Amino acid sequence: MTFSASMLRGANGVVDHRLARRALINEVKRGRISKDSVCDAHPELIRAARNLGEETSTPCPICEEVNVVLLTYVFGHGLPKHGRCITKRSEITSLQKSPHDYAAYVVEACPSCSWHHLLRVLPVTGRRPAQRRGATSS
Ligand SMILES: [Zn+2]
Repeated sequence: MTFSASMLRGANGVVDHRLARRALINEVKRGRISKDSVCDAHPELIRAARNLGEETSTPCPICEEVNVVLLTYVFGHGLPKHGRCITKRSEITSLQKSPHDYAAYVVEACPSCSWHHLLRVLPVTGRRPAQRRGATSS
């Protein structure tokens, strides 16, 4: 099983990711949802969180042992199905220079307990050429 966008919790049909996150955390705190069922990040996601995660000052809402880290995955034309984990802002800038549209998924993940949740999805809009499209095939 390879990592994909659909494995990012909250990626399907949720509009307000922060609201969904808070509701889910509340359910765990009340004991209606087990910790195991929310601390199930794909090993690939946790590996990326340990190596590439952007540190935050937000304690993990589930284990409260360490701070969560942020990861940004970009999906779209020419990128792997499992997305590309962005580590530098310049990578976003270079995508913006392409004629294609991409979606950047910002995920928080806990390297300790494997909690993960989608925080937001940002459109990365490519630069449309002024003249008609489709002439080149780069
Ligand atoms: Zn945790």
